[in-house]
Amino acid sequence: MDKHAQQRRAAESSAHIESRHVDSRHVDLGRRSFLTTGAAGAVAAGLGATESAAQGAMRWDMTADVVVIGAGVAGLPAAIAARDAGASVIVIDENFDIGGRGMLSGGRVQLGGGHALQQKFNIKDDADKVFADWVRHDHGESRLSDRDLVRVFADENVTTFNFLIENGVEFIEKPITPPDASTVDRIFVTKEWHIPSEVVAPHRNRNGSGLVRRLAESARKKGAQILLKHKMTSIVRESYNRGRVLGIVVQAGDRTINMRATRGVIVATGGHTGNVNFRRMFDPRLTEEYQQACMPYADQNASGEIAAMDIGASLWATGMQTIEAGAAITKTRHIGCRWGYATLVYETDSIMFPQAKATGLTVKDWQNLIMVNQYGKRFWNEADGSFKFFNAAMAWHGDKTKLNGGGPIWAIFDSEAAAREKWNTKPPNVDPDGWFFQADTLAELAGRIKNPYQKQPMPGAALAESVARYNSFVTDGADKDFKKPTPMHKIEKPPFFAAWSTPILHDTNTGLRTTTDCQVLDTRGEVIAGLYSAGETQGGFAQHGLGRCLVFGRLAGRHAAKNAA
Ligand SMILES: Cc1cc2nc3c(=O)[nH]c(=O)nc-3n(C[C@H](O)[C@H](O)[C@H](O)COP(=O)(O)OP(=O)(O)OC[C@H]3O[C@@H](n4cnc5c(N)ncnc54)[C@H](O)[C@@H]3O)c2cc1C
Repeated sequence: MDKHAQQRRAAESSAHIESRHVDSRHVDLGRRSFLTTGAAGAVAAGLGATESAAQGAMRWDMTADVVVIGAGVAGLPAAIAARDAGASVIVIDENFDIGGRGMLSGGRVQLGGGHALQQKFNIKDDADKVFADWVRHDHGESRLSDRDLVRVFADENVTTFNFLIENGVEFIEKPITPPDASTVDRIFVTKEWHIPSEVVAPHRNRNGSGLVRRLAESARKKGAQILLKHKMTSIVRESYNRGRVLGIVVQAGDRTINMRATRGVIVATGGHTGNVNFRRMFDPRLTEEYQQACMPYADQNASGEIAAMDIGASLWATGMQTIEAGAAITKTRHIGCRWGYATLVYETDSIMFPQAKATGLTVKDWQNLIMVNQYGKRFWNEADGSFKFFNAAMAWHGDKTKLNGGGPIWAIFDSEAAAREKWNTKPPNVDPDGWFFQADTLAELAGRIKNPYQKQPMPGAALAESVARYNSFVTDGADKDFKKPTPMHKIEKPPFFAAWSTPILHDTNTGLRTTTDCQVLDTRGEVIAGLYSAGETQGGFAQHGLGRCLVFGRLAGRHAAKNAA
């Protein structure tokens, strides 16, 4: 067995061990309870609703006070907070390991308010300043915030920071200035997990591994059960859009498990950007060619939002998804592989490498390439990373059969560019199975591009013409089409290369509507009793990343633990 297979097997067997630790109970609620459970649970549990109703039994296989869906950045603090408040807790995650995207994050936690580490560096901050920053009207990421949520977030920054410390999270003592609405230094980076094989993407400063591994360690120590490879498929409510949430239906391999939550179900499934149909509710341009950062490790599949909406939940602050600020969509710096991203790279010893298949080529200087759309035409200044670039990439390029989405974007360069960048254009750096191509002529290169999202062949003449025109800009010293600052290098020495460099999706900025206690609200603005949401599944506050997920995860767990029927 090779090293990757061994690593994967080790992770999977530890997941299996987690499963066997479960105290599986069968709770027969009897006829009355089933009748109030309704069709959602019965159907999802594999019984026809009518058939089950006739039988008069809803069988619960497992029970906890609080059931958390998702062992990621919001789910883990939710579990700990619920345990701290005395509730029994089961956390499920569909993945083979914990952490979600937090595992692959840079671990740059934005929490302020004047906590101990800020004080140590004499950073003047308080809750009011956090609040004022995150309701700023002059900043895209704060303008549309739900100010009730931001107020609570601001007030809970210091306690959440302390909570992390109490639960074993360690920070590097160096403040970083946030690149967003914050006006003082609030980012401190967690220490990377110390066991490289458990970092998932080792060698790339995936410091978030230290955050989620510590939280998982603490959650387990405190008695939360974490069940891996358990996928929530639906939420069970007393009736379709009325009454209390009773539990969830879970798929674990070929087993269907009905899991009862006597106090609350917390949806912490991480957002929706990996779900093409769902994400297009906010931006119809986001068709299937746009990949999702952190795949293939953690899928932002919208399963939490959909399950909650199926029983009546509402979304909130949906305009935040298209605000054109922050990191909903990002430019990849790692080209020639499917999931190329700015910083995340699966090296060959990563457990994910067999699926990721290539590390990508790291672009140091955008002067070394041009980018073309699926028709071989340049569309924007390659050195730009603003939303103008993304809008141009996603523009309609003239395909009468594909009106939405801009189609694949390819980086085109020659052998001299590869030499300047010191790229080795062979696997494992690139994935020639659809994401990287080379040829001795540009026409031949265009003809070789075969990719599931390249719906029709790239016209060779168009690519050759784009390159010739760009080369003339290099001669003239000015990009007459897109104003790339002083184009420097001609593309003329074979072999020529085409590397996948389509923008990749990142943050979910909208989600389920909640109260400030994270209780999910329905489309009429009423609380759905027993249902909570935190993290990127929660709508109303679009601050990038970990900080908000940690704060609201904690609050959801704390409230759910006390929420007896
Ligand atoms: C490459 C990268 C780097 C980042 N770096 C930073 C950073 O430095 N700082 C920062 O602030 N933010 C960063 N982020 C963002 C941050 O990681 C996320 O905002 C955060 O992880 C979201 O937390 P969450 O709990 O909502 O989702 P996640 O942490 O992704 O957790 C969701 C979990 O739910 C599970 N799940 C989903 N559906 C189901 C289901 N149906 N049943 C069971 N389980 C399910 C998933 O498997 C996953 O484990 C980064 C993100 C990426 C992609």
